[in-house]
Amino acid sequence: MTTPLAEILIKQIKTLGPMSIADFMAAYLLHPEHGYYTQQQVFGRTGDFITAPEISQMFGELIGLSLAQSWITQGSPKDAVVVELGPGQGTLMHDIKRATKGVAGFADLPVHMVERSPRLREIQAGMIPNVIHHDDVTTLPEVPRFIIANEFLDALPIRQFQRAEDGWSECVVGAQDDALIYGLTPPVPIDALEHRVDDTQIGDVIEICPALPGIVGELSRSIAENGGAALFIDYGDWRSIGDTLQAVQDHQMVPTLQSPGLTDITAHVDFEAIANAAHGLAVSGMTRQGLFLERLAITQRAQSLAKQMQGDALQTHIAAHKRLTHPDLMGDLFKVIGIAQTDAHLPPGLDPAP
Ligand code: SAH
Repeated sequence: MTTPLAEILIKQIKTLGPMSIADFMAAYLLHPEHGYYTQQQVFGRTGDFITAPEISQMFGELIGLSLAQSWITQGSPKDAVVVELGPGQGTLMHDIKRATKGVAGFADLPVHMVERSPRLREIQAGMIPNVIHHDDVTTLPEVPRFIIANEFLDALPIRQFQRAEDGWSECVVGAQDDALIYGLTPPVPIDALEHRVDDTQIGDVIEICPALPGIVGELSRSIAENGGAALFIDYGDWRSIGDTLQAVQDHQMVPTLQSPGLTDITAHVDFEAIANAAHGLAVSGMTRQGLFLERLAITQRAQSLAKQMQGDALQTHIAAHKRLTHPDLMGDLFKVIGIAQTDAHLPPGLDPAP
């Protein structure tokens, strides 16, 4: 099968040569006409994948209370803003706002969202009237920002390198007989990957996300100057080894070169890269999502919601609680890390710094 985007990329590769996986991913997700987030109905049970806020309202509620607590600990700054990066359908922010209605002052804070997809911006504005949209983090206001990013960093393009005898080969996307294929560039030494020589062997693949340090670094600079806090939630680990690029369509994994623009494509997030980019700030430990939600009392919340439910709704609710927290489901696969000026300013629920 070929897709309109695959045809465009094949033509481009035939004139310009193979492209990095980062360029491939960027086009796949955000090509102005054929990108996945630009054109597809992606979320929810009828879409290709389902994210934590779409699984249960409890996810957004508890994150809202955690961010609100951090705001209170920082003296309830009146000029603060609530920020979400990559808000999808706006469900998470909707739940944050609803759950924190009773927190005087926090509920009135303006909402800023960083979103590239015009189609998703419209959906988000329907959920959060008066939301202020940004293309990237550089235009957010210079005030205390209380930031949430759930499954945002995994959508940022990555580059992949394979360790060779005398350096690193980059994994690239080429074209052969009108089909996309993977290839490797000749190996060269790469200074920026020196720290991975000790924990890799010849043949191992490692990934880096070139945009991540700039984004987290810029948010950290503002938090250091103005206060605020950020929570990043994603699937991933402390460093990674191996090819974690995955395409998902209709809740199933599909080959990554098969359907550019028609499926989701993401990669594991390297939490060490987040911690390294948070210069001069307090950084929590990398916390398993299940544990984070348990500390924020998800079980009590689940029990109290269950009292008003019965039949199928109750079964769905019980399954959602399990899915978000169980170690074999999202509980261990997804991790949370927080940053703020001091440990005391971190949103509650996180592991202390290691
Ligand atoms: N946080 C949401 C959706 C995650 S999907 C949830 O939990 O349901 C990823 C989101 O990030 C989408 O809204 C997508 O359009 C947005 N996105 C992806 N790459 C982006 C980029 N480079 N800049 C801004 N937004 C981006």
